Amino acid sequence: MERSDEEWKQRLTPDQYEVLRKKGTEKAFSGAYHDSKKKGTYRCAGCGNALFRSEDKFDSGTGWPSFIRPYEENNVGYEKDYALLYKRMEVHCRNCGGHLGHVFDDGPEPTHKRFCLNSAALTFEETA
Ligand SMILES: [Zn+2]
Repeated sequence: MERSDEEWKQRLTPDQYEVLRKKGTEKAFSGAYHDSKKKGTYRCAGCGNALFRSEDKFDSGTGWPSFIRPYEENNVGYEKDYALLYKRMEVHCRNCGGHLGHVFDDGPEPTHKRFCLNSAALTFEETA
């Protein structure tokens, strides 16, 4: 999905725009979903793509919503990020390219992955 920067600015809130399009990081413990335990699906705030399930969410203590795996492996994309001194793996929505957060190899069983996301990149659809 291709949209101009102007279009994204119109469609997204300032917080969503800063994270999704500018690869910003929200302050720890500031977002809507870091301690949410509701059952449902986390979708991309930019395009609605299903990204993560509540069953795969865990309390990482970091202040950001954390998951052990994506909804479907093909729904997200990865890119090496050298913005800090150490290398991180950036995670984005495969559909619209929106930045979601980073993935680390220190997560719990069984995947040992920790998808560390920004609440602002997500919307939540609660399961009835
Ligand atoms: Zn998206």
